[in-house]
Amino acid sequence: MIIKVDNQSVEFEVKQLLNSFHISDELEIEMFRSAKDISTIIKNDGEKLCFIEKVDDGFKETISYKKALFKALKSIYPSSNHPWGILTGIRPVKIAQDLIKKNIDYITIKKMLNKIYYISDEKIDLMLRIAKIQSKYLDDIEKSYSIYISIPFCPSRCNYCSFFSCSLDKGQNLIDPYLDSLEKELKFFYSNKVIYDKELLSIYIGGGTPSTLSINQFQRLIKILQTYVPLKNVKEFTFEAGRPDTLDREKLEAIKMSPVTRLSINPQTMNDVTLKKIGRNHTVSDIIECFKISRDIGFDNINMDLILGLEDESIENITKTLSHIKELKPDSLTVHTLAIKKASTLINDSQGALDKLRTYNIEDFMKISADAADYLGMKPYYLYRQKNMLSNLENIGYALEDKISLYNIAIMEEKQTIIAFGSGSVSKFTYPEENRIERVSNIKDVKLYIDNVEQVIAKKNKEVEKWI
Ligand code: SF4
Repeated sequence: MIIKVDNQSVEFEVKQLLNSFHISDELEIEMFRSAKDISTIIKNDGEKLCFIEKVDDGFKETISYKKALFKALKSIYPSSNHPWGILTGIRPVKIAQDLIKKNIDYITIKKMLNKIYYISDEKIDLMLRIAKIQSKYLDDIEKSYSIYISIPFCPSRCNYCSFFSCSLDKGQNLIDPYLDSLEKELKFFYSNKVIYDKELLSIYIGGGTPSTLSINQFQRLIKILQTYVPLKNVKEFTFEAGRPDTLDREKLEAIKMSPVTRLSINPQTMNDVTLKKIGRNHTVSDIIECFKISRDIGFDNINMDLILGLEDESIENITKTLSHIKELKPDSLTVHTLAIKKASTLINDSQGALDKLRTYNIEDFMKISADAADYLGMKPYYLYRQKNMLSNLENIGYALEDKISLYNIAIMEEKQTIIAFGSGSVSKFTYPEENRIERVSNIKDVKLYIDNVEQVIAKKNKEVEKWI
């Protein structure tokens, strides 16, 4: 597929929109602008089609080009699913938040979102519903900051995952030196009194699979945090205990004894056949047992993650997964739509297998997941999108009202500075007065991170100095 656009500044987003159509035809597309119109010429197998779209001067150039391409492609591929219209960004709710902040009423916002981006009514309602729920928490979020700690080790590789994680077979002996480097990072930044005195809202230990740490290693990590970080006023402390093959009662009890307040147990599916296919070494019974122990020892805030669109999963499989979830009654449920990522092993599957994934009726899966969340008394409270999601849908976090994760809102809506520690993590520094965000990435490779932690600290400190 070839696309030529006469305006370089819009090219990236235009290409992203084109990719979201997943067209297998060898199209040649050319777009160019005159004073009043954008022309889109599409050549396909000797046939040449020309579309001319009037430009509304009120819109940004990127939007005008995307609208022109969208209309042209939609007229050729009408069944391509685009409930988010021309939006290719990952944070749609942020757009709604910004419009609400300008005191624009909901009816006008709905009209604007439909007219500018071609977003469906259903998705606009979802955006506004989430924006409204989030608005209660934004003040607390905006005046504080959070920290993220990456534990990049996993017991095995899941086929859909693009995260740079280290398998335990190869990485076991790296965990202790990794904790040494994490300690150096935390010690350095928290020796700065200005940071120490700032209001720390939440801590998120994610991965990878943080529960790959042994009990001793977990306790050491907690000790490091207790030594350097002011934990006293932290409102939420999440620990991703993603996989039951890394957990037992003893480890869960150790986690319960720590300042962790929120646990995330992530089955992705409650179907043994699929668990095997995606590369997981545990069963549905392991998940159920792990969840029940967690409840039994007193965890009252447990999240579960699901993925819709995993290989060969039918609506019956999803229904079965959801009936397990309804029985377990977690406090929050995060429903992901499968995204086919370039760095995943899934991408190596045959084109036929990938095309088959794209035929799944994910919208129906999403609908019954939303019904299950509703049955459990949960509301949607955050949403994000990724590239190459099946059916161009989204990921939605649902929660009981008193179990909404502040960290998830903060990270998705980019309303708060999040300082990230550990390999592969990305810190985000927000400058709300300037409507600006600066990102600083830590080295991805675990070994390189361990060996170069001073360099990692120096790089991040440059931005920290500006932020404080
Ligand atoms: S999905 Fe999670 S558990 Fe699976 S490989 Fe990726 S980080 Fe590890």
